[in-house]
Amino acid sequence: MSTAPPIAIVSAMHEELAALLAAMPDERRMRVAGRDFWVGHLQEQPIVAVLSRIGKVAAATTATVLLERFRARAIVFTGVAGGLGPGVAVGDVVVATRLLQHDLDASPIFPRYEVPLTGHARFAADTVISDALATVARELLRDPVRLLGQQVVDDFGLAAPKLHRGLLVSGDRFVSTAEESAVLRRDLPDALAVEMEGAAVAQVCHDYGVPFAAVRAISDRADDAAHADFTRFVSAVASRYSLALIEAWLRTLPAAA
Ligand code: SAH
Repeated sequence: MSTAPPIAIVSAMHEELAALLAAMPDERRMRVAGRDFWVGHLQEQPIVAVLSRIGKVAAATTATVLLERFRARAIVFTGVAGGLGPGVAVGDVVVATRLLQHDLDASPIFPRYEVPLTGHARFAADTVISDALATVARELLRDPVRLLGQQVVDDFGLAAPKLHRGLLVSGDRFVSTAEESAVLRRDLPDALAVEMEGAAVAQVCHDYGVPFAAVRAISDRADDAAHADFTRFVSAVASRYSLALIEAWLRTLPAAA
């Protein structure tokens, strides 16, 4: 087995990463900052997998530990998100091209959403990793029964899940009313989906010059039904999406040195 720097795979919640952790055969647990970092291999690539916990600060702390302590060579965030864009439905997948913190506002000193002193509001995801994730996601979504099983496809009505690429927005709020999501859509019309961690990790990776990508399955529409939809999706489906997407992506990478 190699000693190459690992790729970090991060989710906020156990339900999102459970299948992937179960698939890592030789993992070793290291506890740092109250989190369990699982060091091992998947698809013969060196991996460190970790649950960040929910929210931007928890995600940023986790990312910093991954970079400083584990020397991660890239960070990929995977999990679920609420759909905002028209046609971004439960069961679809979003691969981020850019990420923005929708609750960051130091105006009028800095433009709304801009991270002070960086000059950026929208942090770019790594194009190579994101392109590869999009390619494997498109392929997997072509056969949802194979990906998720007939029962899940029927229960969630996931007959024709789609792949979307574009802006992913993050903030320290579970968006769970139609009113709130309408405000987000009005203020950020190109936002495809909302979650609570991605843009924070993108900012940390930007500071360190390390590639970052995010791929999220849509669990809910960030509306009045979001809480019920989210809970159902997360317990039944989320972890299958993460494992299938990440494994398929890792298979596209050259063997680790
Ligand atoms: N455990 C709580 C809420 C979890 S927060 C509950 O059961 O209600 C939701 C998690 O999923 C976050 O990690 C976030 O990144 C993602 N997420 C999914 N849908 C979301 C939405 N509508 N708004 C914000 N985050 C969402």
